[in-house]
Amino acid sequence: MMVAVEPTNAHVEPMTAGQRRIAILGVGIDDLTEREVLARLDAAIRSRRPHHLVTVNPEFVVEAQVNPDFRTMLARADLATADGFGILLAARYLGTPLRGRVTGVDLTWQLARLCADRGYRIFLLGAAPGVAEAAAAVLQARYPQLVIAGTYAGSPQPRHEPFLRQLIRATHPDVLLVAYGHPQQDLWIARNQSSLQVPLAAGVGGTFDYISGRVPRAPAAIRRMGMEWAYRLIRQPQRWRRIINAVPRFAWLVLRYGRQPAYQTLP
Ligand code: UDP
Repeated sequence: MMVAVEPTNAHVEPMTAGQRRIAILGVGIDDLTEREVLARLDAAIRSRRPHHLVTVNPEFVVEAQVNPDFRTMLARADLATADGFGILLAARYLGTPLRGRVTGVDLTWQLARLCADRGYRIFLLGAAPGVAEAAAAVLQARYPQLVIAGTYAGSPQPRHEPFLRQLIRATHPDVLLVAYGHPQQDLWIARNQSSLQVPLAAGVGGTFDYISGRVPRAPAAIRRMGMEWAYRLIRQPQRWRRIINAVPRFAWLVLRYGRQPAYQTLP
C-alpha cells in the first residue's frame, strides 16, 4: 500500500482553545475524556454555529493515507475523538497517550441524553430503510423526553443532496447524526453542513444498526480487551477486508511510519 501524506493547507482549529490534538500518521485526534467531549458538544450546540465531529478509528487513519479529500476533511473537523482500542494503543506507542475514547455508539447514547436534558432536537440520517426509525424508538424508550426531529435512510450519493438538505432544514434539528459509513458520511457532512443550519453534525457509522439491535455489539469485556475486531470477524466474516485495514495494516503503518516527524505533525 502506498503511504502518501502530503502537506495540505487545511487549517486545524480545535473547538476550544488549549485543546490538545495529537497526530497518528498525520490524522488529528483530540485528547478528551467522554465528559469533556460532551461539555464541548453542549457548548457547540448553544453557539448555533456549525460544528463537525468525527470519531476516528484505525480504518479512518488508513483511508486518510490514500484519500486526500478525506484527509483534508479530517483536518478541518472541529472535534476528533478516538474511536477504537487501536487508536489508544497507537497513541501510547507514539508517546502521546490519550485519556479516553468515544465511539460512535457511546457518543449517540450520550448525545441522546444531552438532547433529552436540554430539549435539543436530533435527526438520524442513514442506514438501511427502517433502521434509523428503529434506533430512534430505542433511544426514545430510554429517554422519553427526547425530541426526534426526523429519521431518514436516504443515500450518500450527491444527486440526493438537495432533497436531503431541504428535508433536514425543514425539521430544524440541533444535532444531525449521519450513518453512511466512512468515508462517505463525513464527506457528506463536509459538503452539506454550511447550508444545513445544524449546529452539530457527526458521522456515526454502523451505530443505528447496533442501537436498533440489527447487529449485535461485542460484549463489554471483549471491547475492553480490544478484541472487538475478532468478534466482528466471527459475526460478520464478510468484513474481513475491512478488518485487515483496521488491524494488521494499521499496526504496520504505525510501526513503520508513525514515529517519523512528517507523520507526527498535523497539516
Ligand atoms: N450505509 C447506508 N448507505 C450507504 C452505505 C452505508 O445507509 O450507501 C449504512 C449502512 O447501512 C450501515 C452504515 O452505513 O448502517 C455503515 O456501517 P459500518 O459498520 O460499515 O460503518 P463504519 O464501520 O464505517 O463505522
